[in-house]
Amino acid sequence: MEKMNTMKPLFPHLPKRLAGLEDLAENLWWSWNPGARMLFKTLDRQAWKESGHNPDKMLREFPRELLEKAGVDEDYIRRYDHVMEVFHNYMQPKERHLPVTVSRGHEFVVAYFSAEYGLHRSLPFYAGGLGFLAGDYIKECSDLSVPLVAVGFMYPEGYLRQQIRDDGWQENLVESINREAAPISKVLDKDGRQCIVTVPLTDPPIHVAVWKVAVGRVSLYLMDTDVKINAFGDRGISARLYIGDLEQRLRQEIVLGIGGAEMLKTLGIEHYLLHLNEGHAAFALLELIRRHIQMGSEFDLACEKIINYTIFTTHTPVPAGHDVFPFALIEKYFHSYWPILGLDRHAFFQLGIHPEKPDAGFNMTAFALRLSGSRNGVSKRHAAVSRKMWQSLWPEVPEDQVPIDHVTNGVHVPTWIEPKIKLLLDKYIGADWLDNHDDPAIWQLIDNIPDTELWQTHQWLKVKLIDAIRERTRQRWVSGDASDSLILTGGAFLEPSVLTLGFARRFATYKRALLIFQNLERLAKYFKDRWRPIQIIFAGKAHPADDPGKRLLQNLIKLARNPQFGGRIAFVEDYGEQLGQYLVHGVDIWLNTPLPPLEACGTSGMKAALNGVPHLSILDGWWEEGFNGKNGWAVEHDPSSVNPDGSDAEKIYRILEDEIIPLYYKTAENGVPHDWVKAMKATMQSNAARFSARRMVKEYRDKFYLKGMHRKT
Ligand SMILES: *Cc1c(COP(=O)(O)O)cnc(C)c1O
Repeated sequence: MEKMNTMKPLFPHLPKRLAGLEDLAENLWWSWNPGARMLFKTLDRQAWKESGHNPDKMLREFPRELLEKAGVDEDYIRRYDHVMEVFHNYMQPKERHLPVTVSRGHEFVVAYFSAEYGLHRSLPFYAGGLGFLAGDYIKECSDLSVPLVAVGFMYPEGYLRQQIRDDGWQENLVESINREAAPISKVLDKDGRQCIVTVPLTDPPIHVAVWKVAVGRVSLYLMDTDVKINAFGDRGISARLYIGDLEQRLRQEIVLGIGGAEMLKTLGIEHYLLHLNEGHAAFALLELIRRHIQMGSEFDLACEKIINYTIFTTHTPVPAGHDVFPFALIEKYFHSYWPILGLDRHAFFQLGIHPEKPDAGFNMTAFALRLSGSRNGVSKRHAAVSRKMWQSLWPEVPEDQVPIDHVTNGVHVPTWIEPKIKLLLDKYIGADWLDNHDDPAIWQLIDNIPDTELWQTHQWLKVKLIDAIRERTRQRWVSGDASDSLILTGGAFLEPSVLTLGFARRFATYKRALLIFQNLERLAKYFKDRWRPIQIIFAGKAHPADDPGKRLLQNLIKLARNPQFGGRIAFVEDYGEQLGQYLVHGVDIWLNTPLPPLEACGTSGMKAALNGVPHLSILDGWWEEGFNGKNGWAVEHDPSSVNPDGSDAEKIYRILEDEIIPLYYKTAENGVPHDWVKAMKATMQSNAARFSARRMVKEYRDKFYLKGMHRKT
């Protein structure tokens, strides 16, 4: 399929006996396989940590003597041989979960387009949930051997690190990625130079360099506009995610959609189902249409022809989450494009208008909904909300028949299951449980795990979380630029024996991070309770342009500093994949307080549930499907209340007081809270299989992909 070779970075000092470490380091498969991870980690813990858990970087800098030592260490070699065997078997799948070849002999793949991918901390190409969804999606497609290629951006400044100033204001530190030491490789052309693709119809032409990330069996191709032949302003198009300037943002989306399609062509990938993960890449639809027009179809017929090959997943009901571009900008960039499609200016604009706000501009979601053959929201409720939002696009059908289906999100189980929890499951469910982890029946066997073992494992993970937080805080203190009180609110007072709530997500206002502070006195009581206290760990970044979000965060820091709350509120800086892992494994309760119906799905609660951490959440998104009365706690939002926030908070206090706190602190003589452990088990039993990425990918396959695969003529 790929006509080009990717260059192998050389680790010339790697002994022959361990030559496979190079293949391993160059494929993110290692990141969701504990055995493979341990191969790097046990070479040298310190070096592993300093590399940011990035084997590529670690091996480059690793001393030859230590590698040679490992190469003759029997135990190491035994583990190495085992991992390499598993890896090689993995890369040669026995079965495919989609037919590959269809009529006329074309090999079909799914081309998945997304503006962000959350794969691992060493590739900071994400802002939040959308990215992790995309990352988990392609990992699962790899596991199921769904033939898929993924398209995205190489953001050299993708990594905005968050630091809290003494006055509680968020600062964003730019940290540029070192392309040479990231687990990415250049895609080379036949002359051995990095492949450069020119985005069609751009004037002056915009060029992108092509990089590749191996995600198991899936290739993720990343476009990078920072190439010398580009005009200066064009070099920054892919500098970072979701650039605020509208024109640059439009150029970004032109590169992602139209440039992405061109890149696939250059790579020899011509026959595919186009799956748009959110509307940022929707211009790719035009390229599919253009192809049919070049073969002689009129515009309308070309649109019909792509119906079975195009899937659009919408991800947000928040209006600001949909890109809308002024018509003047669309005119500037597309005036030479619409004649090729056989359209005039008016007809082209019509493709992107929102019928209720026809003057607002060119709406990427409206555009993607119109031109895609299949459309879906990311939870049952979100799809219903989307049908209502977009009904005006289908004025002739009743709201419940608006053609927006749903596939509820899920999380990649091997990525998010904590290795010690996995060992427990291996031991009590059977070593091959992971092969069938989307079968709910398997999870019933969790009852076999002795309460004591599950509890002790969980407590150990909580200690690990608190250790990690304190270490971060200590480092911050050592650096000398943070006041004492900032250090204290950074987690210095956290205690492993205390009932611990976790709240980590982007600081967008609709997520209502401060909801539980509605009644300060009431809340203070829980924090200061001598025998049965609670503590809360917060984390999350506000978007750099989101001042209301930053103010929210500043208020939180102020509250955390107030001794009234007993020092039991911690805010941990710089939420990202790694901290996310610690949190969803180590807290006792995962708290979520969105304003319905704005949480389209939410996935962090699923990651927690998978590890036996029950959810306390407003009913919205996935929790409307996941809550069953035994596996956590739900709060029904009442928009008709005189004070909806206050009434939501009141319900949360009551649940804490009457249910959660007594249940958690009711321990048997051996120190185990058996009823609490029961809730932990119910959480895993009811949610782990249903909200796995495996269930999700199979649903996309059955609902959408097979349709296109079978009907090709
Ligand atoms: C899973 C995850 C998210 C998305 O979770 P939500 O529940 O949708 O907020 C965001 N950031 C990180 C680091 C994650 O791991």
